[in-house]
Amino acid sequence: MEIIRLKPVFKKMIWGGNRLREEFGYNIDFDNCGECWGISAHPNGDTIVAGGEFEGMKLSSLFNERKDLFGNIDNDRFPLLIKIIDAEEDLSIQVHPDDEYAMKYENGSFGKTECWYVIDALPDTKIIIGHNAKDKAEVKDMIENKRWNEFIREIPVSAGDFFMIRPGTVHAIKGGTLILETQQSSDITYRVYDYDRLQDGKPRELHIRQSIDVIEAPFVIENRFREEERKDSCLINHEMINLGDCEYFTVWRLDVQNEADIIQDRAFMLMSVIEGFGYIDGEFIKKGDHFILPYGYGRAVFKGNLKIIASAPHN
Ligand code: ZN
Repeated sequence: MEIIRLKPVFKKMIWGGNRLREEFGYNIDFDNCGECWGISAHPNGDTIVAGGEFEGMKLSSLFNERKDLFGNIDNDRFPLLIKIIDAEEDLSIQVHPDDEYAMKYENGSFGKTECWYVIDALPDTKIIIGHNAKDKAEVKDMIENKRWNEFIREIPVSAGDFFMIRPGTVHAIKGGTLILETQQSSDITYRVYDYDRLQDGKPRELHIRQSIDVIEAPFVIENRFREEERKDSCLINHEMINLGDCEYFTVWRLDVQNEADIIQDRAFMLMSVIEGFGYIDGEFIKKGDHFILPYGYGRAVFKGNLKIIASAPHN
């Protein structure tokens, strides 16, 4: 059984840098590429199979036509989306709806739970997770009266951190952060505050009403993972470190030093190489590669020196 490699889709962003080209070696012919959609079947960036039996097929078509490769999961759309994000400047402060709200107000879209593995952060970089309002009324007041300094909750961030961002959580990465994002396949974002910046002479659109609707208050759970605080790993695949779980997916990190093997016993598993190079079952893989281990793949043997972020849907 072969791995399914995907060809990423790149997105220019006003806050994007050039690290995806310079550090990941992607062939990107424009500057300020903020996002690499590594594994996606979303209409705003459907990735294409590179090589093998399904060469040239869109992931969305492969998912629809060959459900058997994906464990016949009961989803009408491919459920996950993997991105690498390079923020040279601060991103706007945002929040996402849950499935119920998105279904009702966003044409049946999925809601968005996302999580971040921090690949690199410049010294003294901060990240925005949550807010300081005590209840919904204070959320509304702080937003409407632009009390941003009181509202926004910033914490220090460093490489290796992992954050689970549930719907309703105010969040933003700041300039100097490079992350791998695992998320539900959704592109619905409500922008709360954009630091009063201008794009082509105008401020970017904000979504104040929707943001106030969906922001959870008070903010309670941080869902932060730090490796030194939790060393437990998954039972079958003891070499995979469980970074976090949510209702929709599980995310792991796999560190390969010389050799490691895992069992792919899920509906399917997504993998992105974030460091190093080596082999999976004799096939060469390197930093920046994204691929899927299909249903029934079973044992996979890795060789070389690799750092991989993996995920699988819950079905
Ligand atoms: Zn987000």
